[in-house]
Amino acid sequence: MSKLIDEIRFTQELIKIPSITPRDLGAMNVVTKHLKKLGFKCKLMSFQKKGTEKIINLYARYGNKSPNLCFAGHTDVVPAGDLTAWSIDPFKAKIKKGYLFGRGVSDMKGGIGCFISAVSHFLNQNKKFDGSISFLITGDEEGIAVNGTKRVVEYLKKKKEKIDFCIVGEPSNRSKLGQMIKNGRRGSITTYLTVKGKQGHIAYPSEALNPATPIIKILDELKSRSLDKGNKNFQPSNLEITKIHIDNEVDNVIPAKASATFNIRYNNLHTFNSLKKRILTTIKKIEKKFKCKTEVKFISTGVSFLTNPNQTVKKIQRIIQKETRQKTKLSTSGGTSDARFIKDIAPCIEFGLVGNTMHQVDERSSIKDMKKLKSIYLKIIKSFFDKS
Ligand SMILES: [Zn+2]
Repeated sequence: MSKLIDEIRFTQELIKIPSITPRDLGAMNVVTKHLKKLGFKCKLMSFQKKGTEKIINLYARYGNKSPNLCFAGHTDVVPAGDLTAWSIDPFKAKIKKGYLFGRGVSDMKGGIGCFISAVSHFLNQNKKFDGSISFLITGDEEGIAVNGTKRVVEYLKKKKEKIDFCIVGEPSNRSKLGQMIKNGRRGSITTYLTVKGKQGHIAYPSEALNPATPIIKILDELKSRSLDKGNKNFQPSNLEITKIHIDNEVDNVIPAKASATFNIRYNNLHTFNSLKKRILTTIKKIEKKFKCKTEVKFISTGVSFLTNPNQTVKKIQRIIQKETRQKTKLSTSGGTSDARFIKDIAPCIEFGLVGNTMHQVDERSSIKDMKKLKSIYLKIIKSFFDKS
């Protein structure tokens, strides 16, 4: 009989390590230690890009047969913020009134705890099963995310490691366990725009070229034209202006330069390149009209993707519905997650705890939810390897 892991105690052990992104402080060791005891082969990978912190990542696998069911998550957490505002120390992992308190409990140390516990129960009953279980755990999800899952996925691709299905343990439910499975995400593109004109006296505008006017025109045109109406899997794409900046020390000078930043969250009707083209067309048109000069830089922080609701997804949906008595929705709403990288090598969904206190003061998860999530994960694992 192999060792059983308790989801609450495991999560408490992890919360007590203040692994505020990008620091690990031993968090990955906790996961590795337990997985090794269960018989997993663990490969730790450190990545560092020039000018960034060194990040520890883990890929662990039990078995070498297929299919390979993977669980993905992160051990890093966001800072606790104002410590005096917390009713319980964010790194003491105390239980109060049926809730486990702590930074990262819902996002997403608790998710890791529930899955590892479910795996320990599964292995206890099924030493020999036809398939493999793997873990892809990173310490770089809440930060810049350049040395985390992205790099591990590159490594797995090179090694031709096959993952047949992946569950990302992010808190996918807004207020009740079982509300939502995420089966895709919108993409995100940020544009940095600078418009250059010619400085001059405000009383002689014909001698100058004010960049404020064209930048307002550009932003107005981009914002007021609808990108699409959405479709059955996605909400409409949306542009938001996040910064507008004109540096001017006095009020009687036409400025030489104006800049703005805007972000588009887009659905699967667009790509990074199609949006770039669309934005540039508008900018160039107005640039020509006003005879100004522009500088544009684009950054993609994730492309949109959709995991088709296939048999496996529907089976998981049914398990969750039965266990939680919720109408479990498939959704592509919300921000980005590491699923944006994993989708390149495996179909993936996100399902974890309730996220209504994530990144907040007094982040907490109900003990009841954690126990339920553990048993949902166990049922998913069983059904994934069940051939009958
Ligand atoms: Zn997270």
